[in-house]
Amino acid sequence: MLLTIWLEIHIKLKSENKMFCQCPNQQNFDTLQANTNICPVCTWQPWALPTLSKEVLDKALLLWKALNCDINEISQFDRKSYFYPDLPMWYQITQLYKPTNINGHVPFFVDNEYSQERIIHIQDAHMECDTGKMIHQWWEALLDFNRAGTPLVEIVTKPDFTSSDEVVEFLKELQRIVRYNDIADADMEKWQMRCDVNISVRKNESDQYWTRVELKNMNSFSAIKRAIQHEYDRQSALYDKWEKFNQQTRGRDDAKWESYLMRSKEDALDYRYFPEPDLPPLVLDKLIIKRLDNQTLEIPYQTIKQFKEYWFHKEYINAIISDKETLNYFLSILSSFGKGGGWKPEDLKTEEKLNAKNLAKWISWPISARTKENFKSINELKFDKTKFQKFLNISKEWNILENQLKIVIDEMLNLGKDPNDIIKDKWFDAPAIDAWELENICKKVIEENPDIVQQYKWWKTTTLWFFVWQVMKKSWGKANPKIIWDLVMKLLE
Ligand SMILES: [Zn+2]
Repeated sequence: MLLTIWLEIHIKLKSENKMFCQCPNQQNFDTLQANTNICPVCTWQPWALPTLSKEVLDKALLLWKALNCDINEISQFDRKSYFYPDLPMWYQITQLYKPTNINGHVPFFVDNEYSQERIIHIQDAHMECDTGKMIHQWWEALLDFNRAGTPLVEIVTKPDFTSSDEVVEFLKELQRIVRYNDIADADMEKWQMRCDVNISVRKNESDQYWTRVELKNMNSFSAIKRAIQHEYDRQSALYDKWEKFNQQTRGRDDAKWESYLMRSKEDALDYRYFPEPDLPPLVLDKLIIKRLDNQTLEIPYQTIKQFKEYWFHKEYINAIISDKETLNYFLSILSSFGKGGGWKPEDLKTEEKLNAKNLAKWISWPISARTKENFKSINELKFDKTKFQKFLNISKEWNILENQLKIVIDEMLNLGKDPNDIIKDKWFDAPAIDAWELENICKKVIEENPDIVQQYKWWKTTTLWFFVWQVMKKSWGKANPKIIWDLVMKLLE
């Protein structure tokens, strides 16, 4: 069975104010007392008129570029009417007939290795006002309008997805796009990004779509993945049964499905959509469009492609692109390597590529691992960028072993000390140890620990680590643990 999926994604835009009034646009309403962030406009009082916030428009327009959309130079807002208590005037302001951003496409990587690419087409990315919130408490229903009138963008994709992996990786890319460019925080747990997933199955590519099931308001990647799998199994089983018994209803269902996909008249009639009379058409002049076009955006897919040209390991890429702060930290140090601030792979010579790789290595581990573990940002490290750059130079130029460097960066992470001081304190700059001296240290450690030697006869490798560690300490970490391991084993035979 072939699986077809398309998405409608709601993302809460990050702006100072709500969409049509001066109320602050809070990003998290859980901490706010109900109905304390409202005004006549966002509670839709009949005499209050909406005025579109410029900042909201700017954020929505950034998506035009980020999602490779066409722009409607004249777009409009539409009124979507339906009855629900969280909508005081029984309508919502959205864009149906002439949305601002249309016909986009988003390339992204589907797999963890960053080798397989996909493109998903975007039908439109339109602005929309969020509604209030209904809270059910015991036998009462309470209403909170703090959220009403906050700006959303709804991104509608074409039915391009064929697997749950594609859906999840696309959503991750989208989340990175809006975060990197400060369009939205898109925290799914805080409902700043939520997704309606439409699923349909059919037998052959040439078959018409049979039916669709819409899973509303999903807000976690794992739930989306599970739901798609479940729905695929369920629909496939039904399809087999239905094909046997109900062949003739097919035509009608097809028509229904297709008309939905085109955001049909039927749909429009259900909600009695019509152009919003309180807002003029949105006319974007050439200057605005030109200004936008000149803006540089950080597109994660492009960044990943560049990282691949540096021969980065996928773990390095994962760590660096995982959040905006880490990416910016990486880029700011990288730009100091290239002469004249250029950091694109083609600007860098082989040696500079190696520098980039070294930088990526230390950021991905242990730095990024440590910040994630403590839920901290990379900007909150105990050492500043100058100290880190010093460390990078040492790692490249000094004759210091890898395991010693790991100790140095650990100390830096724990205490924020200067790498030079750590190296002096620990004697890491002492002359390298020769084979004869190393063997003497091993012999001494064995001599001093007759009990462990006894244990070794029984436990073998477990106790061997004890000796290796002791010898490492006595040789100031200068020796290679593998060599010590072999040497001690030979001496204990
Ligand atoms: Zn308001």
